[in-house]
Amino acid sequence: MEATERPYWDMEVEPLLNTPEMRELQWTKLREAIRYCYEKVPFDRQRMDKAGVRPDDIRSFDDFARAIPHAGQPEIRALVEEFGGDFDKVFGALLGKERLDDLYLLTTTSGTTGVPTPYPFFRRGVERQSDMLARASWRMGIRPGDRVGVCFGLSMHAAGTPHLLWYLDYPGVTLVPIGAEAGTERILQLMKLFKVNVFAGTPSLALHLIERAPDVLGEPVASLGLKILACGAEPGAGIPEVRTRLEQEYGAKVFDGGAGIGGSCDHPVYQGMHWLADDFAYYELSDPQTGEPVPLEHGASGLAVMTPLEPEHALFFFNLRVTLGDIHQVFTDPCPCGRSGFRYRIVGRTDDMLKVKGVPVYPAAIEGVIHGFVPRVTGAFRIVLDEQPPRVVPPLKLKVERGRDLRDDDLPGLEKEILEKMHKDLKVRPTISWLAPDTLERSTKKTQLIEKAYEGS
Ligand SMILES: [Zn+2]
Repeated sequence: MEATERPYWDMEVEPLLNTPEMRELQWTKLREAIRYCYEKVPFDRQRMDKAGVRPDDIRSFDDFARAIPHAGQPEIRALVEEFGGDFDKVFGALLGKERLDDLYLLTTTSGTTGVPTPYPFFRRGVERQSDMLARASWRMGIRPGDRVGVCFGLSMHAAGTPHLLWYLDYPGVTLVPIGAEAGTERILQLMKLFKVNVFAGTPSLALHLIERAPDVLGEPVASLGLKILACGAEPGAGIPEVRTRLEQEYGAKVFDGGAGIGGSCDHPVYQGMHWLADDFAYYELSDPQTGEPVPLEHGASGLAVMTPLEPEHALFFFNLRVTLGDIHQVFTDPCPCGRSGFRYRIVGRTDDMLKVKGVPVYPAAIEGVIHGFVPRVTGAFRIVLDEQPPRVVPPLKLKVERGRDLRDDDLPGLEKEILEKMHKDLKVRPTISWLAPDTLERSTKKTQLIEKAYEGS
């Protein structure tokens, strides 16, 4: 078999993903990780002390799931407050001295709200992290000779800058660090000039480039001849309607990547992201309300909770049982694509879940419905909230841009269709205020879908 034809990047580990053999390896590593965090990481030690457990008390995965409650943004914010905003002290507590001394790259999330969440990268971690990204890239079909346009934010952005390190050992790939900050015009020009054939960036940027290409390039975006869109940092590429639109407009394969540790496959129907990091991070689901463990069964959903199995190499998750606030649905049955790894789909985030008459609604789900109506709508929309979420007093208010060529006469019929689809799929009956095309601001980074009318403007 040709080296470039092999199914997996790592032919030793990847065939074992989601197997009993892998569970044994995970257990061995998890015990060591618990010990490491207890001995060297003040934040985790305090959590275990508070719960009255010591590493030796944890004798099974089930013990671990019940040993300490999961931690997330609220606990990190409390630490920031406790240390009066001194991030060195916060890091000392969260990472421990050994990892802090190995700190190499300090980035943040895109920070759409409040204090940015720091994302550290360790010297010792970079190589191991490259291996994770390589697994996802190989499955996407990135091969020697490809030219990757890195269009994530490069200023501090945790999804952008590390790309430049992660591909160091990937054979034959050239990186073009364009950065979302370059703006759509330059992004399009540079991709064309340097013959980029793989786009790495947010799905909302990819959507925005479709609209801009005719003006900037004088041709549709398909003229760039991209073969792959490697999307991430937003759920868009996992929304079937968005993915279909991107594939059609670009004439490229579209993949959804998750924090460098998961990636979708090229099965024609979206199957979720394959979890590629069994040997690197331990994955659990937990009930977002009660914190009770949720068994990892086909179709189950819950808050995704992670633990690094190699804490000194950790990526995005640095502590025991931590969550970024993402609600996942998992699929443990074999994927029709035939590749290894259970799959997960991002349902939404705990902090952007809305409750309309008690029915949970995620902005990503609304986005899916709206995008199913392109080109009669542009795809751009906002959810307008009059009160602090999650509770929404009905009706849910939407602002939606009408499509460029839509006739006035066709608007009422379109509105009726959209509302019926929302009711059928999401069990909500919103009201729509129509906007002219290109009224809403387009973002090259993370698009804020919620307009907080209660905060004034
Ligand atoms: Zn698959």
